[in-house]
Amino acid sequence: MSQVRVRFAPSPTGPLHMGGVRTALFNYLFAKKHNGKFLLRIEDTDQKRYVEGAEDYIIKALNWCGLTPDEGPETGGNFGPYRQSERNDIYQNHIQTLLNEGKAYYAFDTAEELENLRLAAEKRGNAFLYNSANRNELKNSLSLEKSEVEELLNQKTPFVIRFKIPDNETIRAHDIIRGNVVVESNTLDDKVLFKSDGLPTYHFANIVDDHLMRISHVIRGEEWLPSLPLHILLYKAFGWEAPQFAHLPLILKPEGKGKLSKRDGEKLGFPVFPLAWETENGIHDGYRESGYLPSAFINMLALLGWNPGTEEEIMDFPSLIRLFDLSKVNKSGARFNPEKAVWFNQQYLQQLTSKELLASFQEIIKSHQIQPNDAFDLKVIDAVKERASFAQDLWGNASFFYQAPQVFDEKGVKKVWKEDTEEILKNFLSLQKNIEIYSAENIHDEIQNFVKTQEIGFGKIMMPLRLSIVGALHGPDIPLMMELLGKDEIEKRVQFFIDYSH
Ligand code: GLU
Repeated sequence: MSQVRVRFAPSPTGPLHMGGVRTALFNYLFAKKHNGKFLLRIEDTDQKRYVEGAEDYIIKALNWCGLTPDEGPETGGNFGPYRQSERNDIYQNHIQTLLNEGKAYYAFDTAEELENLRLAAEKRGNAFLYNSANRNELKNSLSLEKSEVEELLNQKTPFVIRFKIPDNETIRAHDIIRGNVVVESNTLDDKVLFKSDGLPTYHFANIVDDHLMRISHVIRGEEWLPSLPLHILLYKAFGWEAPQFAHLPLILKPEGKGKLSKRDGEKLGFPVFPLAWETENGIHDGYRESGYLPSAFINMLALLGWNPGTEEEIMDFPSLIRLFDLSKVNKSGARFNPEKAVWFNQQYLQQLTSKELLASFQEIIKSHQIQPNDAFDLKVIDAVKERASFAQDLWGNASFFYQAPQVFDEKGVKKVWKEDTEEILKNFLSLQKNIEIYSAENIHDEIQNFVKTQEIGFGKIMMPLRLSIVGALHGPDIPLMMELLGKDEIEKRVQFFIDYSH
């Protein structure tokens, strides 16, 4: 394979959707696997849809995911500029070539005229096509006299430039994922290549840039598959070799039907954007703000539409790069499963050491007006980590280490508080006074002795102790919690629980 060069070519029309990130990821993995280059190209020729801040968002999101481009508007490179709005002279030169060779033409039909034709065709049950069947009756440089065309141009009559789709041609394209695509040219429309605002359309700028930037493989979403025959014809019109193509399957809603849309996240309560995006209607949280680790997010995305052909699910970047194979990407849509996304995060969070989690945990405790204390906080993280899927879960499982319970789970108290509970707890408190080294191990042994000498069941002491310490019947190992909180604090909590319950 000659040098692999692939590109992610988003339009800055808003935040990246997770589908867009997956497209970037598959491009990135493919490039890295083949020692190639991954480019970022900003396709901003549609001024009407341009959204302020979107380009910046795209770059930040890619960086957060670890998908840093080798070439792009920020990184630079030998094939720039990488922003289409800065390349208009290039497009102007290239459209001139097609005009000179009679492969493109000026069209002066007004929007209203075209709309009427579209409506009339619709009435007959057809879709309106501007092509070889009718272009000679429409208002363009193929149907009008040369002098008329010149006059219209001199008068600055608004025009578009259309591609003259060749007649009666069978277009054959190959897609790495979908196989062969065969389309008859007569079914295509003479697509607009240059708009009346003097800027190229997506189709034109896209193929010119893919050629000039020496793109070897175009890997993009399935929604672009219908444009493939047109793109193939454009490469041919210039006499250029087309890159190879791979159209990625859609990401489907959790129920398995329909494309996952930007609105689904709000409706169903999971993020669809990598980073938060602010609009006048409020902030949409991203994966980052929801507590996802970029590694978990990337691993989850990689498996939407691809798998290595084994049961393996947890794969870091190096493994993904090693295993990724475009020809193993599925044709059918990939159902997004939000629970699986949580599972991935839990898997990656568990791989972090407590030290690595310390900073995010201390952020949270500070927000509860608690002074951080590295040694204690680390032990707390050790104690509660295994139940967490997100760093923010740590607080939910650990808050009682910092704040003594003031109220107790009602059902728990009902279940636990018996006639003899107060006496048992009081006996235990006098016993614990004598535990010299208040370590989990010693506490554990003393509890064992206690139940034996008192001739009571284990639960008789464990459950009220747990309620006293946590306020509810869950939490980490009791002797461990006791060691961390210390003898005095345990005494206070047990006493408070007795006063509260009897
Ligand atoms: N600008 C197009 C988009 O927003 C790029 C499509 C392509 O990769 O060719 O998706």
